[in-house]
Amino acid sequence: MGMTVGVIGGGQLARMMIPAAVALGIDLRVLAEQPGMSAALAAVAVGDYRDLDTVLAFAETVDVVTFDHEHVPQEILRELVRRGVQVHPGPDALLYAQDKLLMRERLTELGLPVPDWARVENSEQLGAFLAEHGGRAVVKTARGGYDGKGVRVVSHEHEADDWFAALAEDANGGALLVEELVEFRRELAQVVARRPSGEIALWPVVETVQRGGVCAEVIAPAPSSAGRLADVAADIAVAVAEGIGVTGVLAVELFETTDDRLLINELAMRPHNSGHWSIDGSTTSQFEQHLRAVLDLPLGGTGARDAWSVMVNVFGGPAEGVLGDRYGQALAEHPLAKVHSYGKASRPGRKVGHVTVGGDDLDEVAYQARATAAFLQE
Ligand code: ADP
Repeated sequence: MGMTVGVIGGGQLARMMIPAAVALGIDLRVLAEQPGMSAALAAVAVGDYRDLDTVLAFAETVDVVTFDHEHVPQEILRELVRRGVQVHPGPDALLYAQDKLLMRERLTELGLPVPDWARVENSEQLGAFLAEHGGRAVVKTARGGYDGKGVRVVSHEHEADDWFAALAEDANGGALLVEELVEFRRELAQVVARRPSGEIALWPVVETVQRGGVCAEVIAPAPSSAGRLADVAADIAVAVAEGIGVTGVLAVELFETTDDRLLINELAMRPHNSGHWSIDGSTTSQFEQHLRAVLDLPLGGTGARDAWSVMVNVFGGPAEGVLGDRYGQALAEHPLAKVHSYGKASRPGRKVGHVTVGGDDLDEVAYQARATAAFLQE
């Protein structure tokens, strides 16, 4: 196979693949949704990923197609495969990152640990689930949710009526996912990479801290995870990657429950926010590994460079100007901080970059990363 990788989507994940591609001499080509996006430097085309002709024309210019996001419609993915295009992850795997109901069904079939869940089509069914689960539950739209949008904690059967009504108007019909409200101690993520020929590599399991349903911070490795916890997280992620046939990077988001179980929350089949620390903190970044995996090249080492890495997201950015305007002070005061800008315009709440700091003392590392990120955001 040649070494031209096509990435559909021009966001920050595609952007962060660029340095890895440059280092390995991989020709990275991006199909961006708009001009001037995060990955504009590698964008060879601007177009709609929901348009078959646009995607086919792009795919013809590359050896393998991969993704910055999970939204390319199944019909288009299947047409690419039918025409002999290498697509990683393939549509059969990606389906489970696109639809949370199908994901829950498949993980249950595989015998993997998930929260109690049900498919509900109306408020009566939701009411029945609530009655069986102590009167509270989490309702999720099966498709299209991200960063906590499409996730709602409910304690009454009518609190999802607007979503049921929207589904009724959808020609395909459909249903919502309802789950037990998990009592968790913390959230973890296990990121793995898998090649088409089967090799798998795993980074250390990490702790993810969410604020308002959005990942705010990641600690690598997760504190107190050595031993059984790390083994269980690794076993779960390998079982998912193999059971679903994922190729490329897979992130498995987990709940560590108050009674010491690990339950799978979400799957992402692409580099993931919980793996950003690996750019500065691991022998092989998740972005380099993703490129190696989709090209079916041998995977790189996934050990941590430092005892601790802490990654803190930068939200919003300066109200006036760009992130770089803040560098003078931020970088001078925090020389150990590695700052990553996504080249995006500031907007309240928008992820515009992240900061990673590595070292021996977790408190110090976390302080440095948080202080640097705080300088950069509004
Ligand atoms: P998204 O796809 O929008 O990221 P998730 O399904 O990952 O949505 O949910 C977002 C956040 O909501 C999770 O990180 C977690 O904090 C919380 N959450 C989701 N499902 C549950 C659940 N069953 N029990 C408790 N909290 C949950």
